[in-house]
Amino acid sequence: MQVRTRFAPSPTGYLHIGGARTALFSWLFARANGGSFVLRIEDTDKERSTQASVDAILEGMEWLGLDYDEGPFYQTQRFDRYNEVIQKLLDEGKAYRCYCSKEELEAMREEQVANKQRPQYDRRYRDFSGEPPAGVAAVIRFKNPLDGAVVIADQVLGQITISNEELDDLIIARSDGTPTYNLTVVVDDMDMNITHVIRGDDHINNTPRQINLIKALGGIPPIYAHAPMILGDDGKRMSKRHGAVSVSAYAEEGILREAMLNYLVRLGWSHGDQEMFSTAEMLALFKLTGINKSASTFDVDKLHWLNQQYLKEADANELADDLAKRLPEALQAAPREMLLQVVELQRERVKSLSEMAETSVLFFQDPTAYDPKPAKKFLGKASLPILTDLKERLAQLAHWQAEAIQGCIADYADEKGLKFGKVGPPVRIAVCGNANSPALDQTLTTIGQEAVVRRLNTAISYIENLVEPAS
Ligand code: GLU
Repeated sequence: MQVRTRFAPSPTGYLHIGGARTALFSWLFARANGGSFVLRIEDTDKERSTQASVDAILEGMEWLGLDYDEGPFYQTQRFDRYNEVIQKLLDEGKAYRCYCSKEELEAMREEQVANKQRPQYDRRYRDFSGEPPAGVAAVIRFKNPLDGAVVIADQVLGQITISNEELDDLIIARSDGTPTYNLTVVVDDMDMNITHVIRGDDHINNTPRQINLIKALGGIPPIYAHAPMILGDDGKRMSKRHGAVSVSAYAEEGILREAMLNYLVRLGWSHGDQEMFSTAEMLALFKLTGINKSASTFDVDKLHWLNQQYLKEADANELADDLAKRLPEALQAAPREMLLQVVELQRERVKSLSEMAETSVLFFQDPTAYDPKPAKKFLGKASLPILTDLKERLAQLAHWQAEAIQGCIADYADEKGLKFGKVGPPVRIAVCGNANSPALDQTLTTIGQEAVVRRLNTAISYIENLVEPAS
């Protein structure tokens, strides 16, 4: 069997974490089995579907590298085909027009509830042959089998059997003639020869209905795999409330593609207790049966941890390109050599590329202000002789290298009988503006001799101009 999977998003928002995971699982399964991956945009809900959402979904997939072999197919371009299938079902007596008004359906429901019956459309028009009531636009319903059961051999959840008694006659076309979700999905999955439907378990209730419809149309139902839902850290189904759930937001934050894919694949899929997977490993190891049955929880700390692991391994040149783009515009032309040095200093310290950019400005630009708390502690009059002396010595260093810089500061501290902890911090605040920079010797090396001396001079003037509170 030639495996064919699809990703079928409704373009009513960005590509969110859950959608991206569904896309990844479907892509992996197709690629791992030499099959095809189809992209279908389910845009029949014209009020909620937008071009901006389509673009966001396509962009997200491109960033993740989830390439598709066919599509994107747009359901709004397939209405003729859906109408043809609806007509065929009517002609074959497998579907019928139902003239129930809203009020009638509501009354039916109330009565059933009052009689402690499960509310369900009572099929009153299923075998109707009389004169239709005037003024009611009919919907079209599918004649669900009345007896027997539907068996879903779900690859994740196992075998699920649903009695047909529990399924009512599904509406396949609304009163305005437009086809409904279950009809369009079935027609498309059949026409596109989809062999495996991998999707979130929020669709599990649709599956028996879709299987019955496919059978009525003479098709063979695909194999289903329903992935468990994703919960936020409060245990509730993940939604916008849980912060940045769009894949593009993580791209913007500077999560590496490899880290995102690794994170997504582990969201409800496992292989032993392995945490890190390259794409090649995912392709070699991914099986539908490895998808977990229970819900998974979105954990942003884990995503950041993974990103840190991938940042350590990432290509320095690519990181330097990215860093340059994320710096303020005036600093983007920074010398390549310096960008590369900053990348090496920072890649093990930060969680994301945006954090790298934010905390790296100090390398490329003199401080515009000093972080008040450490400045209060270390840039007072007592530091004046230290900074003045060290500026002289650093200005005269013949070899601007980390070891020589470290030696210069340590020797000075020794000579003056001061602990390094008294000498290092004033230099750091003076040069970097805050106390959070990487190792001092490396930081100074990267910033460069001229800039370090200039910055020390600025700090010296700053201290000289301080008005000490009268005691
Ligand atoms: N369009 C549906 C959704 O975005 C998915 C349909 C399916 O996978 O069958 O939820």
